[in-house]
Amino acid sequence: MTQSFDAIVIGAGQAGPALAGRLTGAGMKVALVERKLFGGTCVNTGCMPTKTLVASAYAAHLARRSAEYGVGIASEIAIDMKRVKGRADTVSTNARTGIESGLRRMDGLTVVQGHARFVGPAAVRIGDETLTAPRIFINVGGRASIPDMPGVDTVDYLTNTSILKLDAVPRHLVVVGGSYIGLEFAQMYRRFGAEVTVVEKGPRLIGREDEDVSEAVREILVDEGITVRTNATCLGFKPHADGVAVDVDCTSGEPVVVGSRVLLAVGRRPNTDDLGLDAAGVTVDARGYIVVDDGLATGVPGIWALGDCNGRGAFTHTAYNDYEIVAANLLDGAARRVSARIPAYALYIDPPLGRVGMSEAEARRAGRPILVSKRPMARVGRAIEKGETKGFMKVVADAETKRILGAAILGVGGDEAIHGILDMMNAGAAYPTLQWAVPIHPTVSELIPTILGDLKPAG
Ligand SMILES: Cc1cc2nc3c(=O)[nH]c(=O)nc-3n(C[C@H](O)[C@H](O)[C@H](O)COP(=O)(O)OP(=O)(O)OC[C@H]3O[C@@H](n4cnc5c(N)ncnc54)[C@H](O)[C@@H]3O)c2cc1C
Repeated sequence: MTQSFDAIVIGAGQAGPALAGRLTGAGMKVALVERKLFGGTCVNTGCMPTKTLVASAYAAHLARRSAEYGVGIASEIAIDMKRVKGRADTVSTNARTGIESGLRRMDGLTVVQGHARFVGPAAVRIGDETLTAPRIFINVGGRASIPDMPGVDTVDYLTNTSILKLDAVPRHLVVVGGSYIGLEFAQMYRRFGAEVTVVEKGPRLIGREDEDVSEAVREILVDEGITVRTNATCLGFKPHADGVAVDVDCTSGEPVVVGSRVLLAVGRRPNTDDLGLDAAGVTVDARGYIVVDDGLATGVPGIWALGDCNGRGAFTHTAYNDYEIVAANLLDGAARRVSARIPAYALYIDPPLGRVGMSEAEARRAGRPILVSKRPMARVGRAIEKGETKGFMKVVADAETKRILGAAILGVGGDEAIHGILDMMNAGAAYPTLQWAVPIHPTVSELIPTILGDLKPAG
């Protein structure tokens, strides 16, 4: 059977549903195809369940520290992992069903469930049904990448998806990959009571960040009893009577770590290998990401790629912004460009790391004369009052234009406070603009004018 539409959206992730809303609102007859769970990664196996689990882990951590606040808890702190999981499942399920029912009620939209595959530049097939449209929007996201490491197929490993099904705390969780996803799981499971070892191939954790950020994050995790093994260049896996044996180092240190479970968190890959892109003539880069221009159009007229699958962002807010760019250009006559987006994101360990723009190392590499200012959270009143003084805030600015180039706030409230700087950067304002601002006391954000006032030429 063949059906014709004005537009087809493949994937109900973070861009697809909103785009379907705009297209149908503009009077188009639209089909949206989803092969699995409405809401995609963020809602089902990414941001929402993990941040819900992080909140449970924070509650456990604070309960253990309660005496420091003068609060007595009579019994031992116990983790009911079934209830912890149930809470995360409820948050995800509510969001997923909300998205699905919104789509099914949408005037002008046909929801199709199944795996879509291109059979031509204007046609996709789902089972024995063919859909055609002059406009096709690909929002297929990505999945955990499974490295081709010795022995990986011989062990029962976890990914960010399967770890969410655990309803008991593993005795010893080995997290392979010391980057954003791995570190969030590492800290939360430590707080749930597991022994945790993080194994990282590179010389430091979150290697894309500045060295001082990596080091402060390592200290935060080690302080909580997490073992961090960096320079693990010789990774391999073997089944073991107690779970999984992970080879971590060929040269120094304990060569093998035995964990009861192992989580692979070594990166993501786009869901583009099973999409029949060849049949449409859509090209991908060496890592499988769909090649797009600055307006997110592929090289094939009438086909766009949005979200994680285009390699231009790896976050929910970037996927959603892709929708905004495509919709504005197509329906509002705008000329919005993805390259105008200022990169911003957070790492949700506790305390969180809020990041925007360039790191200090990137700014130095760009060869600009830069100003840098840094302040430990131990000198932030709000952090002292809350008893959460780990981390620091750092801002990097261009010495000539006085524009902020980037910032990192690793500390309590860092994921929120960073927006003061992100807003300044989006407004294109020079940093002295904030000098006479009167922020609210006591907040972490109130130190932003102070830290800007302390900017000094980088040594
Ligand atoms: C553990 C974890 C934690 C994260 N935490 C955060 C966070 O805190 N903040 C943040 O901003 N980001 C976070 N992310 C990243 C975020 O989840 C993704 O960037 C975001 O979901 C990308 O959205 P998307 O629309 O591109 O794709 P997705 O959300 O992955 O959606 C793609 C959809 O397409 C469907 N699909 C794929 N192929 C086909 C096909 N051939 N036919 C039909 N349907 C198809 C999939 O089933 C899926 O529903 C996290 C990710 C992970 C894994």
